Amino acid sequence: MYCPSCGQQNQPNARFCGKCGEKILGSDNPSPVAHNPVDNVANPNTGHHTRTEVSGGMKIGVILGTLFFPIVGIIMGIIFLNDSNPAKKEVGKTWLWLGVVFGVLWFIFSMMSMAYAQILIG
Ligand SMILES: [Zn+2]
Repeated sequence: MYCPSCGQQNQPNARFCGKCGEKILGSDNPSPVAHNPVDNVANPNTGHHTRTEVSGGMKIGVILGTLFFPIVGIIMGIIFLNDSNPAKKEVGKTWLWLGVVFGVLWFIFSMMSMAYAQILIG
């Protein structure tokens, strides 16, 4: 690490020049930057602290919770389709369709949620 002021070579982790005392900007000394300044802005309309970011754990909970719907739909569909009663088979088809539609919606939601999370992480 060379001193920017006098050119004196110093220790790699030195923060100040040993010769002239000039401050040396090292990579081991990152500036303290606020994590997310947007988070600290209060909503002027309500006066409440607004927080748009959903925590990772809550996001996983929502994804797992919504996965419940397609699974139930498909299970109900399979149960009804195995019934000998033709009317119940029709109900089973409806359940199966609902399960598939919910599954597709769930998949899109999960992908968007993960893409959003990656944007937030950087
Ligand atoms: Zn110096």
